[in-house]
Amino acid sequence: MNGLIQAFLKKVIPPDDSRQALRLRRFFMALAIYGICGFLVYLAYRVDVMDRQAIVGYVIAMPLVNVVFYTIFRTGLNLRASDPSLTIQQICTGIIVAMYGMYYANEARGLFLLVYILILVFGIYRLNTRQFVFLSFFTLVTYGINIVLFYTYYPDDVNFTIEYFQLAVLSIVLLVFSVMAGNISSLRRNLVSNRAMLKESLEKIKHISITDNLTGCYNRLYTSENLDREVNRSLRYKRSISLAMFDIDRFKSVNDTYGHQCGDRILVELVNRVTSGTRKKVDWLVRYGGDEFLLVMPEAGGKQAFQTCQRIRKLVEEMQIEWEGRVIPITVSIGFTCFNPAETAMSVDAEQLVKAADKALYKAKQTGRNKVTADFIKID
Ligand code: GH3
Ligand code: MG
Repeated sequence: MNGLIQAFLKKVIPPDDSRQALRLRRFFMALAIYGICGFLVYLAYRVDVMDRQAIVGYVIAMPLVNVVFYTIFRTGLNLRASDPSLTIQQICTGIIVAMYGMYYANEARGLFLLVYILILVFGIYRLNTRQFVFLSFFTLVTYGINIVLFYTYYPDDVNFTIEYFQLAVLSIVLLVFSVMAGNISSLRRNLVSNRAMLKESLEKIKHISITDNLTGCYNRLYTSENLDREVNRSLRYKRSISLAMFDIDRFKSVNDTYGHQCGDRILVELVNRVTSGTRKKVDWLVRYGGDEFLLVMPEAGGKQAFQTCQRIRKLVEEMQIEWEGRVIPITVSIGFTCFNPAETAMSVDAEQLVKAADKALYKAKQTGRNKVTADFIKID
């Protein structure tokens, strides 16, 4: 039963465009109110408060109006309007329908003052004070037309003192309502824009907190949050994972000879160069500290990791960094490790893998630098 209702709702309110779906949901809310009002009109007719014409008019107008609006929303015609929710248009239509009902309401006409407010409430989150004033004016005009019509057709049945008094009360209520509703609307708009700003700021802060501000690659905080997840994923799906740790050779002396600014430029260019030699959106590079970097290669086996490391080593060696007319030779030592869960029942964690890559890097430094060395976790 639930499934049937959901399938029906999906048919009448297609969920593919969330904004249009929201507009349609609002439309159905208005439709429900039309339905309730229709029931009240029927009751009023049964107890002789309203004329038969009210029922006839309502039965013709209600489906007609709603079919037209539903078609406009479903065909996307509403998207051509400056306000695709068609708030003003729907409210004006409601007011005209109410004006028609009111004409046949005899002594119960006063009740329609409440109906007008009920219709205007629909614009409370969307319209500004100026638009509310326009709608209030429109309401008063329809009310005035009603009085003129009574005067024309039933001059003896109408108590004009009461009519004008009601018109005056309606004017005051609408004026206050317009100002209040306009304020609520602007509060809502502020809330929406503040929320968007907050979201944007949070995203910026998040980005800054996980990014190294010199090179633009990830920083250590990102590793602590993501490496465990990456390793666990590789264990669960039995896919290999490789990690490489690399460090610039004799960087201290480069800084000492050419200055810290030159060192900074080298770090930036090195990251660009290394990134060009890795898989986009798969491998991720972290500045682990100073001139030391960690490259995480998900789903890379030993052979692939070794090839990537050799490629990086060569790319850095071939880098032509000019500083004050001199080309500065730069090399890196790289240590890597690889773990393939498909080959063993043994488990590892991120820390063990980082340690193994670090150990391999140490070996590369000890055995001559500008080279790639491996260290594998012993498996049983
Ligand atoms: P090794 O081959 O053993 O790695 O020798 P090394 O001189 O590179 O020694 P080590 O890696 O221990 O030194 C790291 C140096 O990196 C120290 C510091 O001068 C430099 N460094 C660290 N962070 C920065 C930075 O943000 N900018 C610059 N310009 N230099 C940095
Ligand atoms: Mg170094």
